[in-house]
Amino acid sequence: MVTGDGAYIKKINRSVILKNIIEHGRISRADLSKITGLNKATISVQVASLLDDELIYETQLEHNTVGRRPIMLSINGPAGYVLGIDLDYNQIQYTVSDLQGNPVQSDTIQLETDDYDTIVRQLIEQIKHYSAQYVNSRYGLISVMIGIHGTVNKDESILFVPKFQWRQKALKATLQKELSIPISIENNANLSAYAESVYKHQKNSNLLNLNISSGIGAGIMIDGKLHKGYHGYAGEMGHMIIFPDGDRCKCGNQGCWELYASEPSFFAQLEKEQGKSNIKFDDVQKWIDTQDPVTYKVLNQFIKHISIGLNNIINLYNPETLVINSRVLRMYPNVIDQIKSNLHSSMSQYQEIVISNLGNKACVMGACALSIKRFLQVPELILTYANAVELQAAQF
Ligand SMILES: [Zn+2]
Repeated sequence: MVTGDGAYIKKINRSVILKNIIEHGRISRADLSKITGLNKATISVQVASLLDDELIYETQLEHNTVGRRPIMLSINGPAGYVLGIDLDYNQIQYTVSDLQGNPVQSDTIQLETDDYDTIVRQLIEQIKHYSAQYVNSRYGLISVMIGIHGTVNKDESILFVPKFQWRQKALKATLQKELSIPISIENNANLSAYAESVYKHQKNSNLLNLNISSGIGAGIMIDGKLHKGYHGYAGEMGHMIIFPDGDRCKCGNQGCWELYASEPSFFAQLEKEQGKSNIKFDDVQKWIDTQDPVTYKVLNQFIKHISIGLNNIINLYNPETLVINSRVLRMYPNVIDQIKSNLHSSMSQYQEIVISNLGNKACVMGACALSIKRFLQVPELILTYANAVELQAAQF
């Protein structure tokens, strides 16, 4: 067992060293030793192995005023790539990231169909296309993670995707038959929560991310880990009942939160009040800019309905950070103050409420980050929030 223990310790040391190299961006062997408490010989052996595997690279600092210029270690981003996919209702987003978490390629492909077999064929074709592009890097395209807007079982099969009306689909197994690259399936709100914790709220281990778009879903991080529940469906908060005997929901109940606080409900109400049909996000932005009273009235009602659910969630989870990812709310000035003014309970406690800056890139970025974490086998991941991501997100 001694050899087994030795191998185990080596593996732990390697992951701790990698974690710190990622976190610091550039770090010397001496600082690694100081931070990890590992002796210099151990650091030296592990670093040599990581260099050999081309997972890290060395640079020498240019401007060090005194003494020898230390050799710095960084993650070798282009050593390998991961592909994050957001399989949304009317479009599929693809983002390829290097091992430093920098997106190097993003494409959005419109979906004309909800037919399962057709979409599977499209996915296979695209994954092969990306895989071929990175074949010359050390590790190539390492893995693919797909975000699903529905319930995903713990074995990564799909239970239900409401918008597609897909039930019990073994998407991972189907793709895996055709592709040699490892495929993972995860709920999109979970991936968004993971992205927020890796890229933005890195020191907050109790984070709840709420996606408010065509429905409402939550990703819950408790003590730094995704909380999935017994079957894997935790976070389906759009279906908590906020109005007894309210509107009929597709889930079979009445008065579900997302019937009052999701984007389709907002647009339906706005169209009714404005007497117009086919209102777009740009129209909403224009009316907000010109302080249109009808739009503000509908927005305030929307925020009131959102706040009812938020109050329940805060009471349930006492989150450190509550991130809300909503395109409509992002447009609204002082939205956080408006939300807070609707949270009256002296019982509900939270540290901060913020609107996501990752926007509709959150799912693909979370998918890439989770793939990187698994590949590097690090206990936790902190990645630099690349400006490129924010710019892309701002464009929606
Ligand atoms: Zn429901």
